[in-house]
Amino acid sequence: ADWPATGSVQVDDLVLEYVPGTPVIRGISFAAAHGEKIGVVGRTGAGKSTLSLAFLRFIEAAKGRVLLDNVDISKIGLEELRRNVTIIPQDPTLFNGTIRFNLDPFSEFPDELLWDALKRSHLVHDETSGANSSSSSGTASPTESLPTADGSACAVDRMSGIFKSLDAEIKENGRNLSLGQRQLVALARALVRRSRLIIMDEATASVDFATDDRIQRTIRGSEFANSTLFCIAHRLRTIIDYDRVLVLDKGEVAEFDTPWNL
Ligand code: ATP
Ligand code: MG
Repeated sequence: ADWPATGSVQVDDLVLEYVPGTPVIRGISFAAAHGEKIGVVGRTGAGKSTLSLAFLRFIEAAKGRVLLDNVDISKIGLEELRRNVTIIPQDPTLFNGTIRFNLDPFSEFPDELLWDALKRSHLVHDETSGANSSSSSGTASPTESLPTADGSACAVDRMSGIFKSLDAEIKENGRNLSLGQRQLVALARALVRRSRLIIMDEATASVDFATDDRIQRTIRGSEFANSTLFCIAHRLRTIIDYDRVLVLDKGEVAEFDTPWNL
């Protein structure tokens, strides 16, 4: 149950292919230490998203292996693997249901923790902590909009933002949220689960600057210090202060070094 304790990753001679005999990832090897923040870049079609899918075994290794905390992930049950590793895809789909259900589908965590994750993901903010925090939610005061029956009133009192209540409904698999907001919800879910390995496939265009900034601030937050993180980025600016950058080119590792050395 304590696997993976650190989130260290080792990829050994990994080959991935959609069509047998036509590799998209061509035998790559690299390792990432516990807590490292790694940017992944490369031209369109280089294999970045394909690589991310291998960590959850949405695509199985045709050759080679992926180790997480020194365990070959092909030896781990799919359910356990997918509970412990978080992939945030380029266009995430949410569950229809409440934001609470999206963050905690098995009802394992207290409301306070769910609010905390939303706050750390910049989806809601603390009313008391900023004088200029009212712009995004100039409608009803947070207190007016809450359901109080479930004991979360105390937390809700302090919050405002896009979710007034943990019972707020996500509809059409999240189509009532922006793409960037869906990525932030997925990040909040990773926080709730305390995922030790997170792979973020940044949305290409269309995410506004403020949301993009929130995503990066969330990733840089201290709460992710103990998580190994790969961020597939489209703008170098995004990853300039990451520990290392993995450059993929036509399914091979072209470079893997600190941003300064590239
Ligand atoms: P982008 O920057 O555009 O997101 P990427 O680096 O993420 O690109 P991938 O999506 O991993 O690239 O695609 C790598 C290669 O695999 C491409 O040649 C693509 O056409 C091919 N590919 C991707 N998905 C599939 C699929 N489901 N079936 C067959 N081939 C695929
Ligand atoms: Mg991609």
